[in-house]
Parts: sequence; C-alpha cells; structure tokens
Amino acid sequence: MTITSFHPPRRTLMGPGPSDVHPRITEALSRPTIGHLDPEFIRMMDELKALIQFAFKTNNRLTLPISAPGSAGMEACFANLVDEGDKVIVCINGVFGGRMKESVERMGGTAVVVESDWGRAVDPTAVEEALKANADAKILAFVHAETSTGARSDAKVLCELARKYDCLSIVDAVTSLAGSELEVDEWGIDAIYSGSQKCLSCVPGLSPVSFSEAAIKKIESRKTKVRSWFLDMNLVMGYWGGEGKRAYHHTAPVNQLYALHEALCLLQDEGLDNSWQRHQLHHNALVTGLAAMGLEMLVPESERLAQLNAVVIPEGVDDLAVRQQLLKEYNLEIGAGLGAFAGKVWRIGLMGYAASQTNVLNCLSALESALLSQGHSFTPGLAVKAANDVYAG
Ligand SMILES: *Cc1c(COP(=O)(O)O)cnc(C)c1O
Repeated sequence: MTITSFHPPRRTLMGPGPSDVHPRITEALSRPTIGHLDPEFIRMMDELKALIQFAFKTNNRLTLPISAPGSAGMEACFANLVDEGDKVIVCINGVFGGRMKESVERMGGTAVVVESDWGRAVDPTAVEEALKANADAKILAFVHAETSTGARSDAKVLCELARKYDCLSIVDAVTSLAGSELEVDEWGIDAIYSGSQKCLSCVPGLSPVSFSEAAIKKIESRKTKVRSWFLDMNLVMGYWGGEGKRAYHHTAPVNQLYALHEALCLLQDEGLDNSWQRHQLHHNALVTGLAAMGLEMLVPESERLAQLNAVVIPEGVDDLAVRQQLLKEYNLEIGAGLGAFAGKVWRIGLMGYAASQTNVLNCLSALESALLSQGHSFTPGLAVKAANDVYAG
C-alpha cells in the first residue's frame, strides 16, 4: 500500500472551534520557515507581543503566545501562580471550569469550588460568600466564556471581587477574545489565557497569555519551583522577554506564529469594537432565524455569548442524524452538546471569520432541511427571511 498526500474536505466550521481560518492566515502559514533566533523572526516576535497586548487591551510586559493550545495556556497560568498549598476559589458553570479545578490540584493547590448552574453565568453572590468564608484564598479563577454551554460571566465584577478580597484572578478567555468585550487592564485581570482557533480564526495550537505585575511578583517569589519546565515563565521569558538578547528555550512553532501575527493584523484592521459588534449582529440574526423555526436557546438572553449558541434540540429530533446530514449535504460542522448537555443541545459557533451573513443564512437553511427530514413541523422559509430582516435593520 502507498499512502498518498492527505487532502481534507473543505468544510464550514460552525462548531465550538476550530473556526473557519481566514485565507490570509493559511497563506501566512506557507511563508518560508526561518530560524527562531533569526533577527527578522525576532522583529516579528516583538510585533506579535504588541498585537497580543492590543487584543487583550493590556500593557502587561509578560504577554506572549504559549507554543501549544488553549489547555496549555491554562496550565501555564495555574503552574506559575499556584504555589504548594495555595487555596484557589474555582468557579464551575461548565466543562472548562472543571478543568481549572483539576489543574489547581495537579499543581499542588487546594481548590474551593463555587458551583453555578450549567447554562448560566457564574453567580457573583456565591463567589463573594466563598471569598468571605476563605480569607486565606490566594486566587480566584473563572471562565469568561463557557464554550460548553454558551454562557458569558461578568468578568469585570468577578475581578473586582478578587481584588476586594486580596486574591489574584485567573481568567479563561479562550472563546471570549475578539468575540466579546474584554478589557484586561481596566478590569484588573492578573492572568489570562486564550486560544488561536476560536474568535481569532487562526489555526489551532497557540495560546496567547498575559500576566499583570502582581502576578509576576507572585511568580518571582514562589516558595517552590514551577512544576512544569516547559511552562515555567521564568525560563520562557529568556526567549520571549529581554530587549535584544534572546536565549534558546524551545524551537518556536515559527510558521504558526506567522499565522497568529496575520490573524491579529486582521483583528487590528477591523478594530476590536467592530469585531465584538460583528459577532453580536450575526448572533442576533441567527437567534431570530432559529426562533422562526420554533427552536429555543439554552442560555437566558442577558448571559448569552454571541460566538457560541447553545440551541435546545426539539423533542423527537435525532441529534446525530441532523449533524451528520449537515456535514454530508452541506459540508457544515456544528457542535454536539458536552457533558450533561450531550444529546440535548447543539452548539452553533459564530467565531471569527465564520461569523458572517453567508454562514448564518446557509446554516439556517441547512438546519431547516435537516429538521424537515426529521418531521419537525414549522413553516419552511421563515427562518432565512427572519434573519435577513435583522440584516436589513
Ligand atoms: C477550547 C477551549 C479551551 C481549550 O482550548 P484548546 O485549544 O482546545 O486546548 C479552554 N477553555 C475554553 C473556554 C475553550 O473554549
């Protein structure tokens, strides 16, 4: 047998990530590979740092992309900030909060869990009670945009609470960056991690992170060594920090970093506010169209993410059959429910380049035809019309 080159099908990616990659970004990937210490590459790294600072709205000097996916960004934050025996308040309102708890414990900390209902924002009152009851807590950790449910938590209020009770904050912004309002300095976020493949529409595999001065102070005054060699910021900074002199730490994923640079240039050209508003517009059109088909959303309107739409699967409709039909007939990927919501919701992503009128209208007509084959009854054609009415303003 001779194995030949792999040519993936061309899909429209409207799941929980990866999202559709902008053609300018795939083009950037194919540019010539140069050395990770080449002066031209180092110039690009400096620009990349400035672009990430722009996207996060921060002046933090310790701002860089981790050479691995969002989960590694999470581990970088917990590995560096959680010292042996540290107590960490972890908010859980979905799958990704659960991973934070796991991370705290693996780094030698103790997690105090504040549970909120799945499909809802983190409850600030419950968080404040936990902070009061645990005066020795050092860190508050929460997910800004819970991709498993489509709920957005109030990061500003939660970070205020962290400060009020003398805690550092760790924020998961993997899905929120570029899709929802996010103000790292203004909200006083101490450590934040994101991902390249959600609303930045870059290829998967990189995780932008940023640490405040207070976080850096904590990292520098740790009692014990950071438990991960690869993610130890004290070492990574030898390569990413330092004006001019850079030491080899690991071989940077050179071409992927070109891609992230391009993705952030696109975001800069569009403007952050415009990007947030674009996600909201397409979300409004999608939700209006879904409602015209009689479909309901999982999350209450005021707590909904624009970029991740959890739609309740109607009674009697076969989850898997619908998703397979969309993939086979429309080359369209939407996400399945996770954890407690498996088989109960679809997760329709409107992330980055995928958040477009074409995608919203195609998705609505594809869902219409799949639901009709499932015997779900509604008046065909109304969904696309309702969405178009939103676009017409
Ligand atoms: C996707 C995601 C992650 C994990 O990112 P990977 O790049 O898959 O490692 C973490 N948190 C949230 C909220 C996510 O949506």
